[in-house]
Amino acid sequence: MKKIKSMKQVTITATLTFVLTLLISVGAMAQVQIVTSVPDFAAIAREIGGDRVEVISLAKGYQNPHFVDAKPIFVTKLNQADMMVYNGLELEIGWLPILITGARNSDILGGNAIGHYDVSTSIKNRLEVPIGPVDRSMGDIHPGGNPHYMLDPRNGAPVARGIAARLIQIDPENAQFYEENFNNFISTLKLKISEWNTELAPFKGTEVVTYHKLWAYFLDWAGFKQAGTIEPKPGIPPTPSHVANLIKRMEALDVNLIVAANYYPQKTPQIIAQKTGATFLVLPAMVEGNEGINSYFELFDAIVGEITSALKQQTGSISKSMSQDKG
Ligand SMILES: [Zn+2]
Repeated sequence: MKKIKSMKQVTITATLTFVLTLLISVGAMAQVQIVTSVPDFAAIAREIGGDRVEVISLAKGYQNPHFVDAKPIFVTKLNQADMMVYNGLELEIGWLPILITGARNSDILGGNAIGHYDVSTSIKNRLEVPIGPVDRSMGDIHPGGNPHYMLDPRNGAPVARGIAARLIQIDPENAQFYEENFNNFISTLKLKISEWNTELAPFKGTEVVTYHKLWAYFLDWAGFKQAGTIEPKPGIPPTPSHVANLIKRMEALDVNLIVAANYYPQKTPQIIAQKTGATFLVLPAMVEGNEGINSYFELFDAIVGEITSALKQQTGSISKSMSQDKG
């Protein structure tokens, strides 16, 4: 009995020491608190910041980033943040500005604060920047251009650079750590982009219909063409006449692929796919958009993988039916 008791005491002492060490190390390492609007930025911030940062994303990867519930807990998170990272180009205009103002945190408030990072300021090649004035009749058109630039993987680089530069300013003691992580991120990204390019190369010029103008940057990078959108205008739900015209156009252009982010309604694209024989792909559009997609690299692994395997299957079935015709 005595022996057992002393063993127990040893265990308790060991556990206490462990807990104390843990508490001390957590206390000593004041992590930089980063809040991002969407999970893509959170994933990149984690790559750069490692264990020196604590990152949360307000929107989930399976949510439409145009429409997010502004929960009161978000104000608390923003109040404690050292850095706020968001997309800009009005992507989050319906829900984020009110939260940032409500947080009353001078570190992230206003364009001049070091912890206020509007990522769109780092993006050079913006698509669909409207010429002339913008009004409501044009749908959800943003004066600064199409806001969905994160679906071009090349834009991962300026985002990582922007986050690293700010982390170095906020937490200069760990500058070297952030710089190393940044360099690692960039070399992995370069490697992955060339892999994805190789996978996509045989399908350049493919005409694609998308639900929303969400894939403009992706199609531009992949060398694909936007044959049309199921929404008649950005943010406006499909009408029967628009769908009828789109089907005609798809038949004329021989469009065989429809893609939609997994947070959009699937019924209309399914009907269009049935009528035209096109393949309809429901794709994750952000990190954490599906289970198993936890990094910016895994996001494009999934998107490129699903698109190329669908297109390979189509080519396979076309050559099969051609050889059957011959026979
Ligand atoms: Zn949009």
